[in-house]
Amino acid sequence: MRVPIRLRMTAWHVAVLALVVAALGAFLVLRLHSNLLAVTDDRLRAAVDQIALGYHKEGAPEARDVSSTVLSGRASASQVLDSSGRVVSSYGVHAAASPMIEAADIRRALSGVRVYRTNELGRPSRPYRVVARETTRGGRRDVVVAADSTGAIDSSVRQVRTLLLIGWPVAILITAASAWWLATRALRPISRMTEEADGIAVDRLSDRLPVPATGDEVARLAETLNRMLGRVESGVEEQHRLVADASHELRSPLAAIRAEIEVSLRGDDLNQAARGVLLSTLEEVERLSASVDGLLVLASADRGALELDLRCVDLATIAGEAVERLRALASAREIEIKLALDAAPAQGDPDWLDQAAGNLIDNAIKFSPPGRSVVVTTEADGREGRLRVIDEGPGIPPAERERVFDRFYRRDQARGRGTGGTGIGLSIVREIALAHGGRVWAEEGAGGGSVFTLAIPAEELGASPSGDEAGVPAAGRVA
Ligand code: ADP
Repeated sequence: MRVPIRLRMTAWHVAVLALVVAALGAFLVLRLHSNLLAVTDDRLRAAVDQIALGYHKEGAPEARDVSSTVLSGRASASQVLDSSGRVVSSYGVHAAASPMIEAADIRRALSGVRVYRTNELGRPSRPYRVVARETTRGGRRDVVVAADSTGAIDSSVRQVRTLLLIGWPVAILITAASAWWLATRALRPISRMTEEADGIAVDRLSDRLPVPATGDEVARLAETLNRMLGRVESGVEEQHRLVADASHELRSPLAAIRAEIEVSLRGDDLNQAARGVLLSTLEEVERLSASVDGLLVLASADRGALELDLRCVDLATIAGEAVERLRALASAREIEIKLALDAAPAQGDPDWLDQAAGNLIDNAIKFSPPGRSVVVTTEADGREGRLRVIDEGPGIPPAERERVFDRFYRRDQARGRGTGGTGIGLSIVREIALAHGGRVWAEEGAGGGSVFTLAIPAEELGASPSGDEAGVPAAGRVA
């Protein structure tokens, strides 16, 4: 389970404080109890000594007399026990009427040891602190016991414990709130940095994270990330430059080869076999040229350098022109192209949109079996113009409908079909759509084929295309 760091910090804080306060509280209560008991013991020890002296000199009445002087508390008592545990004399609360210590303690006291105990005495029984010592009277060894109720000690300790038990959760609540606040404050710059770093896409690699002027770990993290961004930026730039340079360098020789092959093909002196070889080489060279052109487009798109000459266009016009260009290819493959073009205003660059529409229609023709038809429609849909290419080809399985827009992605089926594809046609369409703030996606057609939709934002809802671009009547036409 992933617990946010803020929560973890707060939990640790609270757990440590709870433990420390609990340990301190327990120590305090125990210490208070033992201190109060020590004070009582001192008092009782002095009292029992004086009572013992009085009894030793003048007997039981003196013992009671001395007791009344030295044991001033209302819950105090004293008694003299003989060696068999019989009460010889008693003073104070009626608990003193029976022996206040056990037989074993009487024996210990008689052996000369001072005995300290906390015993439950009286009825109903209450805790008493008891001190006993031996004394002599007329050659007989007796035990003098003095006792004081521990009620006052217990109630003091109870009060402190209650206060601590109330204060403990309050302290924990206050600590939890302050720890949460502190953790939030400490992590805020990191959250901000995360959001900013998240916003740095591959086309904004020149952006840098703001470095706080605190000179602390957060500032160091920002500097480190910025240095890393710098390295990524120069690596990516180098890669783009390499692709762009290589594509550029390849263009001219490829054009020259194509021209030479075309010239050779015009000659009459070629035998059938040589003509065949030249034709297939020309096909390959054309494919290679298309790849190189595509790579140049992708390299510019990656640098964010697709130059768009944005204006109000009608996708109907663009679709119509692209279809005209591809009609020869369609009839060579015995594909009928049907048009249903409604006005589809969009804000776009006509050349790039023409290339996107051309790629989609070209694919539909390439992947449809002979004798089938391809339908091209355009329409205004809310805030965007839409161009749709519907074919009766093999369709694309749902799992691959996103992947076909990846670079160099060609379905296995397409590789061996001699479609002349390069695997970058659809990725170019996507780059063009994205550069326009639009989208392109594939769906399953009603008849099992594919439906590709290119959606390009219109300038404003219902905006009509301007002048030249509005050459296609708004009414739908089917050719
Ligand atoms: P290619 O140059 O191979 O056509 P694309 O990027 O245009 O490259 O298309 C990628 C892959 O998507 C193709 O290889 C093909 O498998 C699939 N694809 C594209 N258009 C269609 C279509 N209309 N019908 C079926 N599959 C298609």
